[in-house]
Amino acid sequence: MTTRPAVLITGASSGIGATYAERFARRGHDLVLVARDKARLETLAAHLREENGVAIDILQADLTQSDDLIAVEARLRDDFRIGILINNAGAAQSGSFIEQSIDDVTRLVALNTTALVRLASAIAPRLAQAGEGVIVNIGSVVGLAPEFGMSVYGATKAFVLFLSQGLSLELTPKGVYVQAVLPAATRTEIWERAGIDVNAMPEVMEVGELVDAALVGFDRREPVTIPPLHDATRWEALEAARQALLSDIRQAHAAERYRTPS
Ligand code: NAP
Repeated sequence: MTTRPAVLITGASSGIGATYAERFARRGHDLVLVARDKARLETLAAHLREENGVAIDILQADLTQSDDLIAVEARLRDDFRIGILINNAGAAQSGSFIEQSIDDVTRLVALNTTALVRLASAIAPRLAQAGEGVIVNIGSVVGLAPEFGMSVYGATKAFVLFLSQGLSLELTPKGVYVQAVLPAATRTEIWERAGIDVNAMPEVMEVGELVDAALVGFDRREPVTIPPLHDATRWEALEAARQALLSDIRQAHAAERYRTPS
């Protein structure tokens, strides 16, 4: 047993989630690992238990399936040892919008947005009540870039960023830290799963570098961490431009350019 909070990580069987698991185990946190592939989770858990002496539970779940999602929600609601949620499970999708089947699109939205917000909702009241805890949501720079041609995936990640920023404003005063992490292309299985050749990409970050950078932002309690963004003032400028736009929204009347002669 440790005095550190346990960490529940979704999508912990590979890539970014498995790397978070490794890093938090090294920091001495007990873990709850969630994904569909139980055998992979067990292999990872056995290795991390032996290396770090932490307790690790496995929760096999397909987060697009209602019963499985409900079981993970219940764990987050009821297990008071869990103080950190890493909302990481996600998938990408290749092809243009008109090529993507509605079943695939529905599954993608269910995993990347519905599951993520439901899990945040399951733990947030308990953390707020305790006055401490953390929710980390893994977004993507694609959520800032409709130009990248991944419209549905990008839209799910824009949702993750917006939700994280909103929850940060709501929950920070209650002692709960909310972080959005926005990776760019990172070498994981997500590409192969979506039928994209990662080796054909000009620049890719290694997953260890991505997670270590995200954890620097985590330790600094940054609301938004963008490891591949080299000039942080670009993000600050975007936020300032957004605030300026909001200050020019006047609710009572349409703007001059939309008024019709009466
Ligand atoms: P990955 O290696 O493919 O990992 C995805 C994880 O999600 C796996 O553990 C997978 O495990 C789990 N998962 C997939 N479908 C699931 C489902 N229906 N239910 C439960 N778990 C499911 O990809 P990754 O790059 O580490 O992705 C992690 C997160 O980073 C995602 O949210 C992704 O959008 C985001 N991201 C990745 C990149 C990148 O370039 N790699 C860039 C920006 C953002 P099982 O198959 O065992 O279920």
